[in-house]
Amino acid sequence: MNFQVIKRVIKLGICYNLIKHSNIWEEFLLISVIMPVYNEGNQIYSNVVKVISILARNKTEHQIVLVNDGSSDNSWSEMQRLSRDYANVLIIKLSRNFGKEAAICAGLENSLGDACLILDSDLQHPPEMIPEMIRLWRDECYDVVEGVKSHRGKESLAGKFAALTFYKFFRKTTGINLNSASDFKLLDRKVVDSWKQMNESITFFRGMSAWLGFNRIQVPFNVQERVNGTTKWSKANLIKLAIHSITSFSALPLHLVTCLGTVLLIVDVVLVTQTMFMKYTGKASTGFTTVIILILGVGSLIMISLGIIGVYLSKIYDEVKHRPRYLISTMLGKELNDE
Ligand code: UDP
Ligand code: MG
Repeated sequence: MNFQVIKRVIKLGICYNLIKHSNIWEEFLLISVIMPVYNEGNQIYSNVVKVISILARNKTEHQIVLVNDGSSDNSWSEMQRLSRDYANVLIIKLSRNFGKEAAICAGLENSLGDACLILDSDLQHPPEMIPEMIRLWRDECYDVVEGVKSHRGKESLAGKFAALTFYKFFRKTTGINLNSASDFKLLDRKVVDSWKQMNESITFFRGMSAWLGFNRIQVPFNVQERVNGTTKWSKANLIKLAIHSITSFSALPLHLVTCLGTVLLIVDVVLVTQTMFMKYTGKASTGFTTVIILILGVGSLIMISLGIIGVYLSKIYDEVKHRPRYLISTMLGKELNDE
């Protein structure tokens, strides 16, 4: 690249920044609102209309990206109705249910906005906060505006305790603080482009976006009550998600296995010395209790350790297959959105 070209690129960069933060540019900034949809047929139409009206009132140029994650109800026909009624609605149908994480990936990878906002389609993430999140990004130049739960909504005591324990363990093992984090986030285009470079097959969006860094701000929100339907997360799925997220971001559990082995070795040396001493001084007792305790204790620790190694092995197995994160069977409204 010669000097003239470098000068022109720098000038263009300065102009872009000046224009981006001026009022002229505001009208042209496009926000993509990405909503994963799984069996939300009875509320998706009204919820999207609500989001569109908030964006229109705020005079925000927008694109709505709806990802149908293999719903078995009438969600897809409702989404088609939305794409017929509103020009700026892009609808994507995945070939089956891949899970919310994959649906978010499909939305991010197919959106065009200068910023992308991820919102639950049951509107438990309050859409009334969107204008403020856009303002923080546009006027105060934050690259990531993340919604954090100030109130977790209706949840059992056990659920709250499990969530807090998970966040604490996640912070300790990975160094990343996800306390009260949610998927309700606004990401600048450059953050989305950086996120696209992370090519693991199985994703954990909250962790990945925290890992990315950039200039970020948190905005607290109260989780709204679900108006229709029920949560799609069973207890087993939540446990799976917790194990997946920790093992995706930290190898510490593997090192703990080594530490455990070392501690056991030390205990072993002490016990062997004591046993030998007893034997040679003729004071050897039957020692049955000690043997039972040792066999059971060591056996279960070996099983747990093998289990931890197995989790990592299975993750490597999943990753080396290089399967796509999701498959799209139909996409409608792309032509209109590309214009
Ligand atoms: N969702 C999805 N795929 C799934 C499960 C959920 O796309 O397999 C969507 C769902 O439609 C909703 C969002 O993810 O928009 C959050 O799901 P849900 O409300 O069940 O979770 P919760 O709010 O209870 O954490
Ligand atoms: Mg919900």
